[in-house]
Amino acid sequence: MEGKELEQLIGKNFHYYQTGQVADYIPALAEVDPKQLGMAIYDLDTKQLIEGGDADVRFAIESMSKVPVLLLAIKDNGIEKVFQTINTEPTGFAFNSIMNMEINHRKHPMNPFVNAGAIATTSLIAGKDADEKFERIISFMKEICDDPDITLNEEIYHSESRTGDINRSLAYYMKGNQMIEGDVPEILDAYFRQCSVNVTATGIAKLAAVLANKGIAPWNGNRLITEESATIVKSIMTTAGLYDESGEFSVHVGVPAKSGVGGGLMAAVPNRYGIGVFSPALDPFGNSAAGIQLLKDVVKELDADIFE
Ligand code: GLN
Repeated sequence: MEGKELEQLIGKNFHYYQTGQVADYIPALAEVDPKQLGMAIYDLDTKQLIEGGDADVRFAIESMSKVPVLLLAIKDNGIEKVFQTINTEPTGFAFNSIMNMEINHRKHPMNPFVNAGAIATTSLIAGKDADEKFERIISFMKEICDDPDITLNEEIYHSESRTGDINRSLAYYMKGNQMIEGDVPEILDAYFRQCSVNVTATGIAKLAAVLANKGIAPWNGNRLITEESATIVKSIMTTAGLYDESGEFSVHVGVPAKSGVGGGLMAAVPNRYGIGVFSPALDPFGNSAAGIQLLKDVVKELDADIFE
């Protein structure tokens, strides 16, 4: 695909932002301009990056952080320990639902991409306190997104922390039921910060390209994660990456993907593409409204539906 074609598809799908709304349960996100749409595609075959629209605009990574943090937790603890703590089952519940821990006879959070499972994942990151955990998380994000300019968005972080009572309740529930270990306020502080990191669609495309490329950064040939962890993470993205919209997304788009309430979407097409999308107006499930429509067209154009 050429940049020109991507710009055309962005133009065609732009109006879908009107079908969504920016997240308002985190006050700082409510101030983001909904009229934005951008995409970056890293082509593993040509090693070229195709960018269009608002691909270079910085926005909050939010739940897409659950991917690099899971990868880091696996590096720190190994696959076995991580998935003894967090299950890998999809859930039909909203991302912040308490049901993601309760309807589960195994008494573990159901998967690492709902908030409960993500907070449990952050609890496994090595580091004596929130500062140390977050330092390790942000350095890993810089490396895997190939983006040294990634920073913490202080405004979003304070907004998340101030209004994060549902996340607090999930974390204390897990601690009270011995689902997680460690100091809950420190774990939550690291979690709020990991969600508030500013990324671009381009950086997200590069992260997805590492997943698509079996764990090797295609821009320099360095192995950043094991092939097994890249495979596992793509599987969980397929079954649970878009919360209670994962099934519909799989049917209509058909690529392993992960969303965030900042309006981001990452998609990793095995052995072919890493894709990053940004458009902040969200559908009722908390996934980017125009982002999904654009991704659907691009996947079709690239013949990239993994189920075809
Ligand atoms: N920081 C957000 C939260 O914890 C992330 C949720 C999301 O992106 N779906 O509520």
